[in-house]
Amino acid sequence: MSGKRTFTMIKPDAVQNGHTGAILNDIITDGFRVVAMKYTRLTPEKAGEFYAVHRERPFYRELVEYMSSGPIVAAILEKENAVESFRKLIGATDPQKAEEGTIRRKYAQSIAANAIHGSDSDENAAIESAFFFSKLEIFE
Ligand code: UDP
Ligand code: MG
Repeated sequence: MSGKRTFTMIKPDAVQNGHTGAILNDIITDGFRVVAMKYTRLTPEKAGEFYAVHRERPFYRELVEYMSSGPIVAAILEKENAVESFRKLIGATDPQKAEEGTIRRKYAQSIAANAIHGSDSDENAAIESAFFFSKLEIFE
């Protein structure tokens, strides 16, 4: 059975370019409820830890540098079938391949600076949520 929560980050490019409000509006209009939210910045160490699964990929260093380059908005979102529904809303990793109307198509700069993160499984949604939020910071 699929879960009702996913984790997201509005990435540094989108925050820097003033898209935070529009992206949150798209998320809420699509039926997601915010149960936790934080405006913060990742250190290079923390960004490296978050993306540790991509350690061996050629883009890892650049990704870590970019993800720690400025503030982000981290959030936990609730909706039926949250992970899959949110991946559909954000679109493909490469914004040029993302469908019309998706968040990445509308707001992303490039495959690296692609505006937003969305968890890829219920298991990772739980791990990534715990990376940013304590139980006391999550509101039912
Ligand atoms: N990324 C990149 N170059 C690539 C593929 C990915 O810079 O060729 C970055 C991009 O920011 C992406 C993140 O690494 O969002 C994680 O990659 P993943 O394949 O997990 O894509 P996602 O799940 O974010 O769509
Ligand atoms: Mg991924």
